[in-house]
Amino acid sequence: MAFRFRTPASVLLRRAQLTLMLATLVPTVLMLAVGIVMLAVGGGSFNVVAGALTLAFCTTSLTGYILGSIFVSRGASLARVQNDFVSTVSHELRTPLTSIRMFIETLQADRIEDPVERRKCLDLLQQEVGRLEGLVDRVIELSRIETGRRAFEEKPVQLDDVVRDAVAAYEASTLTEPAPVEVQLDESVTVIGDRSALGLALTNLLLNAWKYSDPTDRKISLKVSASDREAEIVVKDNGIGIPWDEQRMIFEQFERGRAAVDSRRSGTGLGLAIVRAVMNAHRGRVELRSRVGQGAEFRLRLKRERTP
Ligand code: ADP
Repeated sequence: MAFRFRTPASVLLRRAQLTLMLATLVPTVLMLAVGIVMLAVGGGSFNVVAGALTLAFCTTSLTGYILGSIFVSRGASLARVQNDFVSTVSHELRTPLTSIRMFIETLQADRIEDPVERRKCLDLLQQEVGRLEGLVDRVIELSRIETGRRAFEEKPVQLDDVVRDAVAAYEASTLTEPAPVEVQLDESVTVIGDRSALGLALTNLLLNAWKYSDPTDRKISLKVSASDREAEIVVKDNGIGIPWDEQRMIFEQFERGRAAVDSRRSGTGLGLAIVRAVMNAHRGRVELRSRVGQGAEFRLRLKRERTP
């Protein structure tokens, strides 16, 4: 017989579920029986009133039990997500580390004599180190946001500035294959929030638009618009698009689309999770419209700062 290790969190939650059941469900069922008997026996207004009150009390405590169970099981699934997160991060770190070790061993053993090949090997080593660095940075950023350790500023922010920051970061990261972003800013729009976090979210969207588009024909646009109450930033591309059955899950940590994985485009599956976390922190929303082969349109919606 095999033992399955149960994490301390899941043991505690199991106990909480059991306690909840014993403390509420058992007495409630007993009282329910008493209430029904009192009503069935009848024989005087006292019995009827007491029976009805007992039944009302039972209904309330059953509702409490159901709500309590929902909260406890939500807690359980959160603990599971945290465990999954740790194991996925460790797994994701393994891959570049294994390549780095392989390249170092090859160089140490002096197996490559040709200086050009040696250079190539060093370049690949640098690429893997960069990948590792990017992964660690994103994991740290996401976990700081999700654990509430990342304090977001709540200041008036001009979306022009956010766009300027994001386009500059995008251009710096795509120097090898530059593709212009067509920017359309109708008017000066102000929101309340954190300039650097909003810039990071927008940069992630722009870099995805670049990464998932055909290198020979990239069309990336960014549009800022606003109504009385809301501001919107739309990032649109003419890339590979996203099938509808993946459109929810790609916002989860470490989730990547099939096409992204099959085409061997590098990525960690954390970019959109960061976008969603930043938007949640700003009480905003991120929406996606896309069809396979017809590009993608990501829409960031934020509450607009009212000008007096
Ligand atoms: P990564 O790009 O590192 O894989 P993200 O969280 O940024 O991670 O994106 C998750 C997945 O969403 C990607 O793997 C890809 O399948 C899909 N995706 C995101 N943006 C686009 C886009 N503009 N066009 C097509 N697919 C996209």
